[in-house]
Amino acid sequence: MTITVTAPALKTEGAKAFLARAVQPVWIGGDWRVLSETFDSHDPATGGLLTRLSRAGQDEADEAVAAATRALSAPDWAQMLPAARQALLWRIADLIEAHADELAELECLDQGKTYATARFGELNGAIAQFRYYVGYATKLGGQTITPSIGYAPEGKQVMAYTRREPVGVVAAIVPWNSPLLMAAMKLAPALCAGCTVILKPAEETSLTAVRLCELLEEAGVPAGVVNLLTGFGHEVGEALGTHSGVAKVAFTGSTEIGRHLLGSAQGNLKKLTLELGGKSPAIVLEDADLALAVPGVARGIFGNSGQVCVAASRVYVHRKIYDAFAEGFAKAAGALRLGHGLAPGSDLGPLINPAHAARVAGMVEAGRQEGAEVLAGGQGNAEHPAFYRPTVLAHVTPDMALMREEIFGPVTTLTPFDHADEVIAMANDTEYGLAASVWTESLSSAHRLSAAVRAGTVWVNCHSYFSPELPKGGMKTSGWGVENGAQGLDNYLENKTVCMVI
Ligand code: NAD
Repeated sequence: MTITVTAPALKTEGAKAFLARAVQPVWIGGDWRVLSETFDSHDPATGGLLTRLSRAGQDEADEAVAAATRALSAPDWAQMLPAARQALLWRIADLIEAHADELAELECLDQGKTYATARFGELNGAIAQFRYYVGYATKLGGQTITPSIGYAPEGKQVMAYTRREPVGVVAAIVPWNSPLLMAAMKLAPALCAGCTVILKPAEETSLTAVRLCELLEEAGVPAGVVNLLTGFGHEVGEALGTHSGVAKVAFTGSTEIGRHLLGSAQGNLKKLTLELGGKSPAIVLEDADLALAVPGVARGIFGNSGQVCVAASRVYVHRKIYDAFAEGFAKAAGALRLGHGLAPGSDLGPLINPAHAARVAGMVEAGRQEGAEVLAGGQGNAEHPAFYRPTVLAHVTPDMALMREEIFGPVTTLTPFDHADEVIAMANDTEYGLAASVWTESLSSAHRLSAAVRAGTVWVNCHSYFSPELPKGGMKTSGWGVENGAQGLDNYLENKTVCMVI
């Protein structure tokens, strides 16, 4: 298996200039500052050094929380007119759009994803996030209420109204699989609501967060409204998660760290939204259109090398079409070309690092030992250790780790079923409840299964379709709360009731 791991020459001057800097700064209270402690950022395809990042810790977390707290009530932010906030969000979207090619190049280099995924999926998605919440900035009204209170003084009346106020300082903690998009999913509603933010990207993928914050400054985000702290989860992430000045943590990441954050939030009972892991089933019914289902499920698991929270990592296929599906699906997996995300012709890039690829390989190997059959893939690459071939496994039993744990790689299981009730039980036999897809031409099967599967999102005849209008959250251990849509904005707002005698 030959893999082109080297990146072609960068096309954008912006990405070249960014990588030419010795160390990337943090952004606190409007000041850009290079810290004395640094850590390295690598291209996962080659292992080569891309740049160095400032390593923030407790001191910088304290400073950023103080700056974000001051900015929350500063007149240039707290009293910004809704129309001005709307214009600001629009300017941010415009600037991301103007720099989308550069940001996409940086994202591919840093994360490993293909250019098509970065530029047309995630950059466009990030722009759409800001444009979506633009509309809400001028529409954050409360209600007027006439309460049934009969004991007001003679001749007086009671009236009441509600206000929607920003929740306060938000720590936005994001994972490495879709760094810029995940940051935008938090920043857009938080800024729309009038919150201030400390953005903490994953240590593996912080490059686009630095560039994004530079664009936020250029757009006119007032000093301290957004702060950027690069660094490690157990250091600066922990400092933010436990900080009494942080009112809310908006977290996307693993269920393990999500659980840990519950403990971190105890001190000041900070609000949490947790977008966590998944083990999402794709259910292919007897009447599915295989021309749609085979490539659709393949995209659902192999996109971004399977490093997607909603990845279709358990595929259940009706026994009558199982053989036909399995043949087409294994062929589709086998046809995918691995290579550097920026190299033309790559369908899949590397995994985030060799250690993660080794973990994925170890899970597949353990499954093999327990009796799983490899229909496609099942191999890493000794020369290029971050790459792992798209893998399809059969004969995986419900007790195996492959069926129960999030693999977060290009690996899925194929399991036959005979009846709808049986497959509903199989699909729900997981601690997770993030997403699912149902593939069928029957309207009633589509509705029945959509209702029966315990998952925050159910797609019918598609998988991994996202848009800012669509609320996205997880049931069971896949999380708390929702991102996107009007509900996503609610998480950044507090309700206040004002009741008065007049
Ligand atoms: P992770 O949980 O290891 O890290 C996520 C973020 O948390 C990183 O920024 C990390 O530095 C930080 N962190 C680590 N320890 C911390 C601590 N003690 N306190 C505060 N912050 C800490 O996750 P990951 O490996 O970066 O990402 C992969 C995971 O993210 C997968 O489980 C995936 O399913 C999940 N994910 C979920 C969604 C969703 O919307 N549900 C989307 C994308 C990814």
